Amino acid sequence: MDRVGFDTAVCRVCEGPCPAGFALCFCCRTAVRQLQLPLAPVVAITTYRVGDRTHRLLRGYKDAPVGEVRRRCVGALSALVERWMADNAGRLRERFGHPWSVVATVPSSCRPTGSPADAVATRVPDLARLHCALLVRGAGEVDHLVASRHGFELAPGIDPGWLRAQRVLVFDDSITTGARAQSAVAALRGEGARVAGVLAVGRATAAHGPPAPLAPCSARRAAEPT
Ligand SMILES: [Zn+2]
Repeated sequence: MDRVGFDTAVCRVCEGPCPAGFALCFCCRTAVRQLQLPLAPVVAITTYRVGDRTHRLLRGYKDAPVGEVRRRCVGALSALVERWMADNAGRLRERFGHPWSVVATVPSSCRPTGSPADAVATRVPDLARLHCALLVRGAGEVDHLVASRHGFELAPGIDPGWLRAQRVLVFDDSITTGARAQSAVAALRGEGARVAGVLAVGRATAAHGPPAPLAPCSARRAAEPT
């Protein structure tokens, strides 16, 4: 049944738009099916469209060829995150429940090690003081709309016993389908960690059309009602 084009609702997981009458958007429903696990709640600080200022910052902080430009982008994004977290602490507590004890970033899909989001996380005091590189790339394929429990694995040197006592906030620069972030959540939960939720700087919206509520997920068909 094609419900696209009807009134939109808000996805319970990612807070992106989904067709009215559905609890989850297409992307989150796809991730649940692939991971066979519940997903972690997602909060995006802002939305962006291809070519707007936020998109340029999110691209530039990791891809700009000039170091000074990358540093300026990191500074702007860090300031945005710091300000937003100060203004929205209550909302985060409400959405994510109990406080988290560790902040982990999602490893890069296209670089051998590390996460570009570390550059932002380590400059935001509320994230930096709890930041720990918990994950590395795993053997499983993770891609746009492809989530895998084995896409990430515990970084060498991380004590699984210690991790099982932690509550983790997953931080990433942007959310498009959520496949990468939810794969990271699944990897952490697979090691016994509790996951508070996913905080992303930006949520990608459609390249054309109004900034909200359209998003890539809303353009896809939900397979069945929930
Ligand atoms: Zn969703």
